[in-house]
Amino acid sequence: MSRPVVATLDSAALRHNLQVARKAAPHSRVWSVVKANAYGHGIARCWQALSDTDGFALLNLEEAVLLREQGWKKPILLLEGFFHADDLAIIDRYRLTTSIHSNWQIQALARAELSAPVDIYLKMNSGMNRLGFRPEQINAVWRKLRSLATVGEMTLMAHFAEAEKADGITAPLRLVEQAAEGLEAPRSLANSAATLWHPETHYNWVRPGIILYGASPSGQWCDIASSGLQPVMTLQSEIIGVQQLAAGDGVGYGYRYRASGEQRIGIVACGYADGYPRHAPTGTPVLVDGVLTQTIGAISMDMMMVDLTPCPQAGIGTSVELWGNQVKIDDVAQAAGTVGYELMCALAPRVPVNVI
Ligand SMILES: *Cc1c(COP(=O)(O)O)cnc(C)c1O
Repeated sequence: MSRPVVATLDSAALRHNLQVARKAAPHSRVWSVVKANAYGHGIARCWQALSDTDGFALLNLEEAVLLREQGWKKPILLLEGFFHADDLAIIDRYRLTTSIHSNWQIQALARAELSAPVDIYLKMNSGMNRLGFRPEQINAVWRKLRSLATVGEMTLMAHFAEAEKADGITAPLRLVEQAAEGLEAPRSLANSAATLWHPETHYNWVRPGIILYGASPSGQWCDIASSGLQPVMTLQSEIIGVQQLAAGDGVGYGYRYRASGEQRIGIVACGYADGYPRHAPTGTPVLVDGVLTQTIGAISMDMMMVDLTPCPQAGIGTSVELWGNQVKIDDVAQAAGTVGYELMCALAPRVPVNVI
């Protein structure tokens, strides 16, 4: 038998979360963002549950080709565009939509020999200073692209740096509106946070990612607690050992935890090599036999220790939820100084995944 650690993906939750996103932006079409192998969940495992979407957005040509080979016929958007001019042949062959963020890409498009015009997303830098053309360049770049025979439908795209904040979209949205003046430009601006919290950003296409997987774009579960979003991934394992501590006993590497009195602890078959965050401190929430308790000491590569004081009935073989419906991935992430996004993406390949 393999180790008891296992991840379970809830297809019904994925389907439901897509509907939550749709209801939040009822007049927009939806790009379901499945980059990073569907935020660690696995594109091949997830895409069918999301097939009510209008399109999938991702980064890798390999992921796009996989979706086409699995039978997805509707749009696919390459969020970072193409990385080499040669990629245009694959974009053409698989009918992909590509973002355009740099001049060299425009030159490559101008020179390309394609079987049909390719749809593009012109990416504007609205303040984040990651990818994209500056607002004052947009008008000229838009017109240049519009003049190319190799370019089909065009959409203006931007991305928010702090859409989880109440006033986080005001300045970038103004820049987009100024840049788009005089252009008949459909727009796609909204990530998950803007989809949920800033309807004025919705326009033609929204691009939710993290909310499809049931975690919070702000990193705080409380911000989405009333949204109806449901966690998709449950990471579970079992207790494989029990220790009885006396006052002063140390636990794990570096004895980062010491018992202040008698204490019973469980050893769980899950560690940082499974994707659990090594920085999770003593006190990180964990569910043992349905009872909320906490981690104790440093997380090891393959194991971690948990306090069994609130669940004296627990012993070897007792089930443990590391995150899922009861223990929110956002809460584990917050304890470890990170965000749910990172924990999902870090689920290790050695963890078996069940889809229900
Ligand atoms: C990742 C990404 C998204 C989705 O972001 P979430 O915060 O997960 O909703 C949307 N647009 C772009 C350009 C992205 O890179």
